[in-house]
Amino acid sequence: MRFQEIQEHYDVAFRRGVIPFLSCEECGKSFFYPSTRCRKCGSARLDKRLSAGEGKVFAITRFRAKDFGEVSYGIVQMEEGFRLYCNFEEFGSNLEVDSGVKVGAMGETFQLLARPRTL
Ligand SMILES: [Zn+2]
Repeated sequence: MRFQEIQEHYDVAFRRGVIPFLSCEECGKSFFYPSTRCRKCGSARLDKRLSAGEGKVFAITRFRAKDFGEVSYGIVQMEEGFRLYCNFEEFGSNLEVDSGVKVGAMGETFQLLARPRTL
């Protein structure tokens, strides 16, 4: 698959607020960060897919940033089997490892944002 084709798939998904990913037709590995080859087996037979956006907190860290207040950042394990880095909007719910989250692409810059699944 050509990189441009992958880029178009990601652009269309992000404009809809959805998380795109790639799935290897040879070994079944799923991954988020764009690549023309499978990150596990090297196959070029990749399927372009869209995530349902459901996942669990894999890692989370909080820090205070000038002008932004408290910022939460980390990694989400998505139900389709891949992980991605994103910001968290906690809404006072104090997310922990394994908390359920819904992930989407927000705003004009398509920032990846995870929110508590209960919202
Ligand atoms: Zn593979």
